[in-house]
Amino acid sequence: MKPAPFVHHAPRSVEEAIAVLGEVGHDGKILAGGQSLIPILNMRLASPGHLVDINRVDGLSDITVEDGWVRVGALVRHRALERSDEAHAAQPVLRQALVNVAHPAIRNRGTTVGSIVHADTAGEMPAILALTNGVVEMVGQAGRRETSWEDFFLGALESSCGPQELAVAVRFGRFVEGTGTAFLESARRSGDYALAGVGVAVTVTDGTVSGARASFVSLTDVPSVLDLDPHLTGVEPGSGEWALALDAVAEAVRAHVEPESDLHASAEYRRMLAGELTRRALTQATRTAHSTQGQPARTAHSTEGRGERDD
Ligand SMILES: Cc1cc2nc3c(=O)[nH]c(=O)nc-3n(C[C@H](O)[C@H](O)[C@H](O)COP(=O)(O)OP(=O)(O)OC[C@H]3O[C@@H](n4cnc5c(N)ncnc54)[C@H](O)[C@@H]3O)c2cc1C
Repeated sequence: MKPAPFVHHAPRSVEEAIAVLGEVGHDGKILAGGQSLIPILNMRLASPGHLVDINRVDGLSDITVEDGWVRVGALVRHRALERSDEAHAAQPVLRQALVNVAHPAIRNRGTTVGSIVHADTAGEMPAILALTNGVVEMVGQAGRRETSWEDFFLGALESSCGPQELAVAVRFGRFVEGTGTAFLESARRSGDYALAGVGVAVTVTDGTVSGARASFVSLTDVPSVLDLDPHLTGVEPGSGEWALALDAVAEAVRAHVEPESDLHASAEYRRMLAGELTRRALTQATRTAHSTQGQPARTAHSTEGRGERDD
């Protein structure tokens, strides 16, 4: 199918993009990588009269590692962020999750910010924004504002980014020294949207866990974080107590998530996956947490996910 007719706008600056969005009002839609929007237009699930194509806008393609953040501009493609060694060193869970996003062709074009604004809870990066306590920066008619991930995600495919606002960047938080991360998911085929996915961050101090959290893909209505401290704080990874604590974590995760049944998997199967993936991810994450002990202060969480896809 082909999209309904639309007027194509190609602003060169953020100011110009905001001006066009103001003129066209609710009949306008921002076009970034087009990997979600174009299929929607082609299937005529939406028929905006104006597309505001931001691909020529200056100043939106930077990845910047700052003190507490990895800042990612609106035109940074998934693949560029995945390949950024600087971003990986500062926040390893980004690459760990990104290698699971679709296929390379889609990651070459799709933007990480677009994926977050699209707010699909089957997407990996909304969950990673939540896991890292991230922030979204937006510009609109009233100027610049930023909002925490908790206030940004309102529902499935619904965010607080208004129709006349442009998300100019997202900032992923970095973790404290001694933190390991992991991201694991299960999909029917490599590159498919996940049946279930889990990102975790675990901080180990003096041999025992001092903080742990998890976030979820395809398992909740909006991105959410589960605090695992009650189950893991003070526990030594790999000990007998650790195995029991992981049982309790898996049970807490199964109680926390709210998966739905569809033609790909039942809710019960997804719930089982959620508990098991969290258990495995935590064990992976603690390995990196141990190895970051004693390194210069930087990220707090890190781990090599299910193995980076070499594609
Ligand atoms: C076959 C296929 C498989 C996929 N599999 C996965 C997957 O496994 N995991 C996954 O996470 N994603 C997957 N995707 C989606 C992909 O990650 C998209 O790139 C991403 O969801 C949207 O980014 P985009 O830059 O393409 O945004 P677009 O498609 O251009 O836009 C998406 C929406 O966000 C809005 N928008 C985009 N950028 C901005 C901005 N800066 N400010 C305000 N609004 C904005 C648009 O108006 C639109 O409503 C898949 C896509 C395809 C086609």
